[in-house]
Formats: sequence, structure tokens, C-alpha cells
Amino acid sequence: MGPYSDLIFQMSLHLIQLPILTDNYAYLAVCSQTKACAVVDPGESDSVLEALDHHKFTPSLYLITHHHGDHVDGLSSLVARYPAPVYGSQFDLERHQIPHQTFGLRENDTVALGISSFSVIETPGHTLGHICFTWSDGIFSGDTLFAGGCGRLFEGDASMMYMSLQKIAALSDHTLIYCGHEYTDSNLAFAHTLEPNNSTLNQKISDVKTKRAKNISTIPTTLKEEKSYNPFLRAHVPELIHSVQKLFEIKNPKDPTLVFEATRLLKDQF
Ligand SMILES: [Zn+2]
Repeated sequence: MGPYSDLIFQMSLHLIQLPILTDNYAYLAVCSQTKACAVVDPGESDSVLEALDHHKFTPSLYLITHHHGDHVDGLSSLVARYPAPVYGSQFDLERHQIPHQTFGLRENDTVALGISSFSVIETPGHTLGHICFTWSDGIFSGDTLFAGGCGRLFEGDASMMYMSLQKIAALSDHTLIYCGHEYTDSNLAFAHTLEPNNSTLNQKISDVKTKRAKNISTIPTTLKEEKSYNPFLRAHVPELIHSVQKLFEIKNPKDPTLVFEATRLLKDQF
């Protein structure tokens, strides 16, 4: 079983997950009717070119969640071989932060891929111009929402990131979360320090350990699952609030943004 055997049928979209660099995921999203192909967050080019050759796909467009090198560094080589429009946020376009970017996207903008299309959610926090791409039953969440965690606050602040995560949380519970990194194991270890009695979390930890021991991806998860153990979607849960308060003074523990902020700070030190 090679890394490209993981072809997942998603209504009219095929998704191919590409493990790249140390722990990143790039993706190919392919319209099953027209074979139009989107390359998502190519942090390097070699693995992506190999997958494109293997499947005989030609990119119709590139989708970029944010400007960090581990999401864009493959663009130059890819665009040289397969010229196609590069979509990222309007914010990143104005600051020339994404190489070869041709289109700037804002909230609710759509990008067509064959008979499918992606809708844009602006999710500032990890970076100020971070966006996520959603479709009928999934989301490319980049470095905003991870399985069991969320991105670090490199450019934005806690209230921004909290709002961004709440936007994602408002999607259907069945939404499949395709994030930018395989961080699930360490994220869940942190979650366990805050909710040691969460049985769903404990079962998930065990499942993830089994998968990772066999080098199997833990992505995608579902939004429903994430709501049951991801501490960054659980700022309202009494056990979590209690645990965070033992480690960090929160002015108003009924304010989920403050609980989220304290949780994020604790994770930074974990
Ligand atoms: Zn990043």
C-alpha cells in the first residue's frame, strides 16, 4: 500500500492525502466527473509531482490556506511545470505573501472545480490572512483546526482565533476535517491533562496510538468527534474549565474566549 492508495470518495470530489515534509499534509482534490484537480497547500513539490504523475492529473488550480512555507514552498516548481491560478486570501495577496498568487479570496467567495465548488471562510488567528475551504461535506482547515488541537497564534490574538474556530464549529457535525498537520497524538496528550475522565477522549487516544504505530494517518476526523474531545472547541465544559483554572488564573471562567486563551497558553508550554 503506497501513500497514494488512500483515494476517498466524497460525493463528487475525490481526495488524495499526501504526507509531506515532517508532519504536513498536502491534498489533491479531484472532481470525479471532470477530473479537474486542485492542489491544496503544497509545502513541497516532489511528492505532489509524483502523485500527479501517478494519477495522471493536471492541476486546474492551487488552493492555499495561508502563507507559511510548509504550505507554499512547493508552488514555484509546481506552477513552472503546471501553470494554473493560485487562490489564497485577499489579505495575503495584498501583502504578496504567497508566491505566484493570482486571486485573493474573502469570506463566502467560491472557487469552482469541475462540477464541485469550494466556499471560503476567513479564519484569522494562526495568521491574519488564514482561510479555510469548505465543500458539501468537508473542510480544508489548514493550521486553524487540527484533530485534537488548533494552530498557534503567530499573528492573531485569542479572540480572533476563538471566533474563527466557532465559525468552523457552526458547520454540520458530519463535516470531515482535513487539516494541515499530523499532530493528533501530541494534541490528545495535552487534551488528556485537562479532561482525564473524558471517555471519548481516552478511546480516541487509544485509537490514534494504534494507527500511528502502523504509520496510518489519523486525518480526517469529523467535527462531531472534535467537539467531543478537542479542548479548543470545549471552552464551555466544566471539567476543562476547572483544570485550566488550577493552572491559570482566569478573570471570568464563564467567558469562553478567556478560557480558550488560557488553554492556548497552556498548550504553548506543554
Ligand atoms: Zn502555519
